[in-house]
Amino acid sequence: MLSKEKTMEAIEIMYDMFPDAACELTHKSPFQLLIAVILSAQATDVSVNKATPALFAAYPTPEELATAPLEDIIQKIKTIGLYRNKAKNIKACAVQLLDQFDGKVPESREELVSLPGVGRKTANVVMGDAFGEPAIAVDTHVERVSKRLRICKLDANVMEVERTLMRKIPKELWVKTHHTMIFFGRYHCLARNPKCDSCPLLYMCQEGKTRMNTK
Ligand code: SF4
Repeated sequence: MLSKEKTMEAIEIMYDMFPDAACELTHKSPFQLLIAVILSAQATDVSVNKATPALFAAYPTPEELATAPLEDIIQKIKTIGLYRNKAKNIKACAVQLLDQFDGKVPESREELVSLPGVGRKTANVVMGDAFGEPAIAVDTHVERVSKRLRICKLDANVMEVERTLMRKIPKELWVKTHHTMIFFGRYHCLARNPKCDSCPLLYMCQEGKTRMNTK
């Protein structure tokens, strides 16, 4: 596994490659970010961003979404995967925000994961992007990049990947690193065709060297 120093060396190179890495889900409030992240489970940010303008135009706040007809929510998000369950979850989430949190998105992980459709990853994204709380959300890109570079063990589960990243990266860099690793995974170290031949990290990447040797 990469040492702390080598991990930061790799991440600094990613920062240079993607200096503008940031959340790509369109939103205008913590509430809209929360809903967009729930909708993005097993779906692309692009597909979510296509559906949310109409959804948020009709139902911009918890008050409006909580009383929206379920069928209309379904219609507005039906281009996103798992839309029926997600429609139920975001409506129930808005209801719970009103009932238990005075219509505001809570800032703690414990409260966030009590909301329908919100797991640890979603809570971490909202904590980091809406409230500036240090958190590393491990999505498919963060997990793949961490494993390919051997920042964490190949057989680590998502929680172990998160813990390893938190141990090796200074807290104040968690949110920035989360976005940067997503960009690196989404646009460079792609799942099927990683760009190893032009990768500035090839010198320290066993996966990349193996791929280049077997080409
Ligand atoms: Fe990803 Fe290839 Fe770069 Fe390794 S060398 S980090 S596998 S793109």
